[in-house]
Amino acid sequence: MSGKTITILNLYSNDMNIYGDRGNVLCLQKRLKWYGYEPRIIEYNQGDKFPNDVDIIVGGGGQDSGQSKIKADLIKIGPKLIKLADDNVSMLMICGLYQLFGKFFKTSEGEIIEGIGLLDIETFGKSERLIGNIVTSSELFGDIIGYENHSGQTFLGHKVQAFGRVRIGAGNNTSDISEGAIYKNVIGSYMHGSLLPKNPAVADYLIEQATKRKFGEFKVKGLDNTYTEMARKIAAKRPR
Ligand code: GLN
Repeated sequence: MSGKTITILNLYSNDMNIYGDRGNVLCLQKRLKWYGYEPRIIEYNQGDKFPNDVDIIVGGGGQDSGQSKIKADLIKIGPKLIKLADDNVSMLMICGLYQLFGKFFKTSEGEIIEGIGLLDIETFGKSERLIGNIVTSSELFGDIIGYENHSGQTFLGHKVQAFGRVRIGAGNNTSDISEGAIYKNVIGSYMHGSLLPKNPAVADYLIEQATKRKFGEFKVKGLDNTYTEMARKIAAKRPR
């Protein structure tokens, strides 16, 4: 073992963890090990003590009711998360937590769930649900493949960039072709899947930023992604 520990904080997995979002944590854990690091996972749920030392923060999606449950606690830890994001900590937030990392989510019933404003995005619940397989393109990551299921439609402000451009599916909304958002090393996305096992380039990006930030380097050991590439080809052709 290298003695080089990378700590992953998994946010609200009791209430915000659907369509296999936990796979993102498992993928980071596995790849970190393969790269010779020591992954340490800390679960954070409502009321827990927020740890001092974290390198990657991961959060998943949830029903509107799950979002209502965790919203007060999230607002409490919001300033800490914003500080860590501005200090270049890697983060990945999927769907429900992506929405709440933004300014607000106005549900279709008109309830406003306040977000922490870490991402310059606004979300509005609509009657139409956007469901199915999704493929986007990105200069940084190539094709990004996943599965979406949301009624919230998200609009990007000028402080974030889109994570990808939609080729198949809906993405952030039905009005433009953006999917997800990036701010510094924080990625927000509607893509379940799980996202990272299907998209190793995104997993490696989060790992690279985290290890460079902590140790000043990322020693790339070319991992064999042959099976993943085969699975990606099939997933990209699946009907919506
Ligand atoms: N409740 C939110 C929506 O439907 C998030 C759903 C999700 O996380 N999949 O928009």
